[in-house]
Amino acid sequence: MTHINRRNLLKGAATLPATAALAGVASPALAAGHSATEGAALYSAPLGQYRITALLDGVAPLGRGFFFGGDEIDTVMEQVGIGPDALPAPVSAFLLQSDDRTILIDAGMGEQELLGPGFGGVTPGLAAAGVAPEDIDLVILTHAHPDHLGGLIRGDEAVFKNAELAIGEVEAGFWTDEAMMAQAPAEAKGLFQLAQTVLNAYGTNVTRIADGSEAAPGLSMILSPGHTPGHSIVRIDGGDRQLLMIADTLHSADVHTALPDIGFGFDSDPAQAAVSRRRIFDMVSADKMLVAGSHIHFPGFGRILRDGDAYRYVPATWM
Ligand SMILES: [Zn+2]
Repeated sequence: MTHINRRNLLKGAATLPATAALAGVASPALAAGHSATEGAALYSAPLGQYRITALLDGVAPLGRGFFFGGDEIDTVMEQVGIGPDALPAPVSAFLLQSDDRTILIDAGMGEQELLGPGFGGVTPGLAAAGVAPEDIDLVILTHAHPDHLGGLIRGDEAVFKNAELAIGEVEAGFWTDEAMMAQAPAEAKGLFQLAQTVLNAYGTNVTRIADGSEAAPGLSMILSPGHTPGHSIVRIDGGDRQLLMIADTLHSADVHTALPDIGFGFDSDPAQAAVSRRRIFDMVSADKMLVAGSHIHFPGFGRILRDGDAYRYVPATWM
């Protein structure tokens, strides 16, 4: 099921405009169930002083059960032609390149297998874009879940040895709070351990960013709590084009725009996540702002439009 969905996803990506680049994607390998690390899927477009590239790390085989709600969810899934159980969520990271900066926003799951095998596409994606791990000078981490920070380490060593690691100060504070970890349920303790391993691996290169502050010129981190206590989104000032990297504001571009108040299984506070989601959707729909999301259909660029009391996601077509 997962592999069929991934194949469809890549087929969809291949119909994108000429700026799309799919390197080394071999359908026979994917059909045979090989992991995403054997190829690389990336998509690149200009954004002011930057070139932004979406990198596909893998596809999480999420199901209907991850979303808290009733028949209304099944109705949306049926309307958009998603099978009765599958709700595949791509895991994407984003590369930003300017004349003097090479920046990664999130790093995918890497070798972590919390959602099964088949992840780790960020590093081959970077290689296909001509970027070595040592070239990355800054990683901006939206939040400390495994599908965003797993790719930052191999074993307990930093993958991006020359990079500063920028993380929201609320998020860093939460995952390094020993009292919080002590009272967390057993199955969540591993998440704390992984986050701490990553922060330790980057040591003195970790910078805690205050809400609304810049991690780099033109890149500000905005606190948007609920999915995690310190979940941040990233506003990218591309001159005449502004882009909001909304990270895990949504986990299905179809379900969460049609039903913005629906909770999601990995939210630390689903109600607060819904408040944040509506606030962001209102902002980007009013400003007709471009968004990029970690779990939006690859490559994950689009617009969110108002639709009555809900919203609608429209994929961007780049020139
Ligand atoms: Zn995520």
